[in-house]
Amino acid sequence: MLLGILFGFIMSNFDSHGKQIISDWIKPFGTIFINALKLIAIPLILASLIKGISDLKDISKFSKMGGITVTTYIITTVIAVSIGLSIVNIIKPGTSISDETRLELLSAYEQDANKKLKVAAETKNTGPLQPLVDIVPSNIISAATDNKNMLQIIFFSIVFGISMILIPENKSKALKEFFDSLNEVILKIIDLIMQFAPYGVFALLATLIVEAPKWDLLKSLLLYSFTLIVGLLTLLTFYVVFVKIVLKKSPNFFFKGILPAQLVAFSTSSSAATLPVTMDRVHNSLNVKKEVSSFVLPVGATINMDGTAVYQAIAAVFIAQTFGIDLSLSAQLGIILTATLASIGAAAVPSAGIIVLVIVLAQAGIPEAGLALIFAIDRPLDMCRTVVNITGDATVSMFVDKIISKK
Ligand code: ASP
Repeated sequence: MLLGILFGFIMSNFDSHGKQIISDWIKPFGTIFINALKLIAIPLILASLIKGISDLKDISKFSKMGGITVTTYIITTVIAVSIGLSIVNIIKPGTSISDETRLELLSAYEQDANKKLKVAAETKNTGPLQPLVDIVPSNIISAATDNKNMLQIIFFSIVFGISMILIPENKSKALKEFFDSLNEVILKIIDLIMQFAPYGVFALLATLIVEAPKWDLLKSLLLYSFTLIVGLLTLLTFYVVFVKIVLKKSPNFFFKGILPAQLVAFSTSSSAATLPVTMDRVHNSLNVKKEVSSFVLPVGATINMDGTAVYQAIAAVFIAQTFGIDLSLSAQLGIILTATLASIGAAAVPSAGIIVLVIVLAQAGIPEAGLALIFAIDRPLDMCRTVVNITGDATVSMFVDKIISKK
């Protein structure tokens, strides 16, 4: 990571062709690394979830685990949004922006933001129950052709796994062996991909540095970024305290276990792309049972985004402050609800958070043009919130593991 950042800086400052050299000769390796991770995401979920559930044998154990998992995820998300709201109301980053800077930013990022706004408008025009409808695919083959349909694949795998438990054991035996062995092969592929990780991460960061927007324009957004980082750190502290007090594990053990996944999350900005690494670390280093990690983590990667939830709250209020809008208590309570739903609905891919932010803005009556304001700085912040997203998933899987083991 450090070498990548350094190399990016050197190339962009000391060589006029530096940017071109990086995009021709370095960037492709980052793209290959991300592609390889994405490639394995759907096979991994299918194999590990079906294996995980069919290992359970006892259906009541599965429904118990599902209930605990979803409830805990929703609670952590609400906590995350509340932390975000409190901090943004204390620091008030939006009040520091001058009219001049605002106009400059709005015109500079209008085009990029317009593209996002278009996708966002499509998201907004759907009914309230659309997320539920979206979970059930009408065709499993076409669902499996797009990584954005992760929830659909999860839904299918769960139904498949449960049905395997429900039929007599002698009839499901062959399939069980098939999925056990498929799972092993996929884990081996992930192992091979991870050997390439240091080079992939180097390439990704070098590219990010040469492609970053003008720094002086970003200055006025530093306070907003600072607020978000304080929010994310507060949430991380909450996890550490939770791990220490409730799970009785040292912060050192926790961070040592999850750090490699956090680094991949930081450089890919995608919880879905990081999923293979998160699953590996949570099972092998944080000692969470396979049957728990293979269920809790894929579900978490899609529905539990605590970092994104903190971000939704802070970004929405920041934009309101910038436009001089005073949000009432009920509008802020509304943000808790919509930010929770929006973070559940966000896909586990880069920039998903800023797309679903429009739901929060629309509900609270905050101008959607504000997206243009925060667009410039979104990528680095996306990297940070993705780290928190996967850390939240890991914490919850340790918690679910503890509860399940007790029973
Ligand atoms: N990039 C984030 C993730 O994949 C989602 C977001 O944009 O907040 O976890």
